[in-house]
Amino acid sequence: MQRAEKADRLKKLPPYLFKELDRQRDEVRKRGMDIIDLGVGDPDLPTPNHIIKRLCEAAHDPATHRYPAYSGMKAFNQAVARWYEKRFGVSLDPDSQVVTLIGSKEGIAHLPLAFVNPGDLALIPDPAYPVYRNGTIFAGGEPVLMPLLEKNGFLPDLASISPDHARKARILFLNYPNNPTSATAELEFFREVTAFARTYDLIVCHDNAYSEMGFDGYRAPSFLQAEGAGEVGIEFHSLSKTYNMTGWRIGFAVGNADVIQALGVVKSNIDSGAFDAIQYAGIEALEGDQRCASEIIEVYRERRDILVHGLREAGLPVLPPKATFYLWVRVPEGFTSSDFSTLLLTRTGIVTTPGNGFGPSGEGYVRICLCVNKERLREAVQRIRTLDLTRKPLHGKGSQ
Ligand code: PLP
Repeated sequence: MQRAEKADRLKKLPPYLFKELDRQRDEVRKRGMDIIDLGVGDPDLPTPNHIIKRLCEAAHDPATHRYPAYSGMKAFNQAVARWYEKRFGVSLDPDSQVVTLIGSKEGIAHLPLAFVNPGDLALIPDPAYPVYRNGTIFAGGEPVLMPLLEKNGFLPDLASISPDHARKARILFLNYPNNPTSATAELEFFREVTAFARTYDLIVCHDNAYSEMGFDGYRAPSFLQAEGAGEVGIEFHSLSKTYNMTGWRIGFAVGNADVIQALGVVKSNIDSGAFDAIQYAGIEALEGDQRCASEIIEVYRERRDILVHGLREAGLPVLPPKATFYLWVRVPEGFTSSDFSTLLLTRTGIVTTPGNGFGPSGEGYVRICLCVNKERLREAVQRIRTLDLTRKPLHGKGSQ
């Protein structure tokens, strides 16, 4: 059927690398094997009660049933500004420097439509959350990958970006604490990024979705804490991970007023804002009792320690991440990311994400997520031990 011929922008999306793994998972499940899914970054814990309660109250108020304001409810945007001041010491004008999003993914995907003309470049981390690259492609832009290498602490090496690429790029995407590598960045790096953006007239989009997921006292900085950052960029945030609210679809972007306004124009032509009742629940999340957030972190910390310890004993050396609920694990010698994911799946029923699915520089790693309970993680460790990775030099294919 000719009419079903897809537009070029869809054809330009990179191939879906997890297709083969999905097929294998279905097959393993059909064989009756018990699957432990450490693939998806979606919290298994419930949203805290006081937030649900606030949603219910607000949903009963007919005033919330109408179209929301495009750029967010005034009260929500004000709560975001207060949270930013309190958490990062960054002052924001809630009317011009905050926009409410239907989850941060929505804002990230739409941003390039506001700034990228066909043929323009965007600088994208590699490996990365796929939406930076795919949002750029939807806008007709061309992604230029910035490798995140272990030897550089998984930070992009700004000095190695070709000046020609930097000049032709409109946006530089960053994400720390990072998915998938779990690396963190300090303020000094954000200062360097700000200077780089000034030199090449780039818009910096920092995705801070995991800012509240730090362990052992680690508190991730905001990009906007760097001097002058508010002149060159914006920051995306999400309530999804901090408060187990992935299904609610609520996030926000803050920072440079011109960039925020332009994103608002795109949005006002595509969506009609987040449900007001969810925004009221979002205010409760940001300003209510924060013990829930500390309890959630403690759950992930315990899980992290079980898995890091267990993987090390099983012959997979991994450092405990300072933030995020991901472990970025080097695969044993002789394996590709996909080989190793396949081995884990077919021999132990454990689902992991092959690193190359996040970009070519992710080759040689798998991402393991902490979104299952302690008992299941212990079970996963037991199963991985049966592979005897400490003794056997493993070579190649997962089918062995
Ligand atoms: N940014 C990163 C780095 C993520 O990993 C995710 C979700 O996994 C998101 C953004 C999207 O979060 P949200 O639920 O706010 O759309």
